[in-house]
Amino acid sequence: MSNNSVSGSSAGIMYTSTRGGQEPVTASMAILKGLSDNGGLFVPTRIPRLEKSLSELAGLSYQDLAYEVMRLYLTDFSEEELRACIRAAYDEKFDTPDIASLHEADGAWFLELYHGATIAFKDMALSILPHLMTTAARKNKADHEIVILTATSGDTGKAALAGFADVPGTRIVVFYPKYGVSPIQEKQMVTQKGANTCVIGITGNFDDAQTAVKKMFADREMGAVLDKAGFRFSSANSINIGRLVPQIVYYVYAYARLLRDGVIREGEEINITVPTGNFGNILAAYYAKQMGLPVKKLICASNENKVLFDFFTSGTYDRRREFILTSSPSMDILISSNLERLIYKIAGEDAEACAAFMASLSSDGSYTITEEMKKGLTDFYGNFLDEEETACVIADIYAADRYVIDPHTAVGAGVRRKYVEETGDDATKTVIASTASPYKFTRSVMRALGEPVEGLDDFVLADRLQEKSGVPIPEAVRSILTAPVLHDQVVDPADMPAAVLRFLGI
Ligand SMILES: *Cc1c(COP(=O)(O)O)cnc(C)c1O
Repeated sequence: MSNNSVSGSSAGIMYTSTRGGQEPVTASMAILKGLSDNGGLFVPTRIPRLEKSLSELAGLSYQDLAYEVMRLYLTDFSEEELRACIRAAYDEKFDTPDIASLHEADGAWFLELYHGATIAFKDMALSILPHLMTTAARKNKADHEIVILTATSGDTGKAALAGFADVPGTRIVVFYPKYGVSPIQEKQMVTQKGANTCVIGITGNFDDAQTAVKKMFADREMGAVLDKAGFRFSSANSINIGRLVPQIVYYVYAYARLLRDGVIREGEEINITVPTGNFGNILAAYYAKQMGLPVKKLICASNENKVLFDFFTSGTYDRRREFILTSSPSMDILISSNLERLIYKIAGEDAEACAAFMASLSSDGSYTITEEMKKGLTDFYGNFLDEEETACVIADIYAADRYVIDPHTAVGAGVRRKYVEETGDDATKTVIASTASPYKFTRSVMRALGEPVEGLDDFVLADRLQEKSGVPIPEAVRSILTAPVLHDQVVDPADMPAAVLRFLGI
């Protein structure tokens, strides 16, 4: 743990690998590299403390607050560089000047993280990552073209494409499970413009895509081939610390807004509920807590792929199970990559131990943490919702509050209810990360609301949802209605490396 007295911004923060064997690197280098050389994830050598008081932060705009949080982590960026990145990211691409807004319903506060270009929370980080990356390349005099390689369960892909399209000095290749994303998600991706973009469906699930992408990153031979041709891989997945750091901002912002609005007193603890897949979003909330944000419980919500719930209850992470396709596809994940950063932390920052757990996960499909490490999990509460419960929560909250939420957010809202029921903690104000607009999952939402969906296409359903909810159809959905399909490649997971080389003309 960091010592409060030494966490001034003047002391630069470096980044090391969760699996060791890596000299500490600067923030900009960690962003550029994405993943450490031995496949470990970059972690800050210490977690900085918030420097301004919460009431000071309560008076700031999203952009100014983002600067106050991010500068504590990206200590080798100048003020000018960081502010320029923030300005370029959080602008009119968002349909509210608040960038992230709070909505009270169901006895909690929904933190709407879906007001960006692709109407899901990934925009919060992926709108700034390309700017952090190109700035980092400039700082490190990296003259190779950056090739972003991304595996997506639906939302990351489009958000990354939107962020990187036509950014000079970058190319982006996105792999998605051909039969594992919603029709609107797929249409959003395959209509992506930009000569530097490439979108490929695979005949496997998200884990297959992610595993193959990780393999390519670790493949030295392939790296050498790229290097020779003037390219270098980088990652836009949530394992990049350039994704993680911007996600910390909105938890501090949510707290600051509740404080400003008189909902909470300064220092009052809140709960944060996060519908979770890859463990990136909730890890950012955990970092916010470590920075001194008054948070009681981090409520980790899973769908029927409840590998995290089982982990929190048993201490065993076991991916050997059936992969279930649910109405919250961005959480259909059996290997939550970012959990590695938590494992590293609760193992007492022991990289060797962490590497051994990850080796066991990859060879045996499971690992069990020690009793000592389990004590580090008390910040968390985990639970899950099945498909029927998820639909009920959507219907319920609409009936009571006329507020429509998407299935991912509903998993969060339902797990919060279970937490309150189980613990009796109904006094702690709770922020629920609302991770997607209901318009991104219109079919599931309308079905949950008891509306007819058979034989109606997603765009008709969007019209009907608009009539019902009174919330206008977002521009992101309207614009893809007529957009032509520009990407139609489908490959076997084994052929992913060849597809990348083809796109790069190697
Ligand atoms: C990615 C995503 C999640 C899961 O977030 P993680 O950071 O992977 O845990 C939840 N909901 C939606 C809509 C998403 O796109």
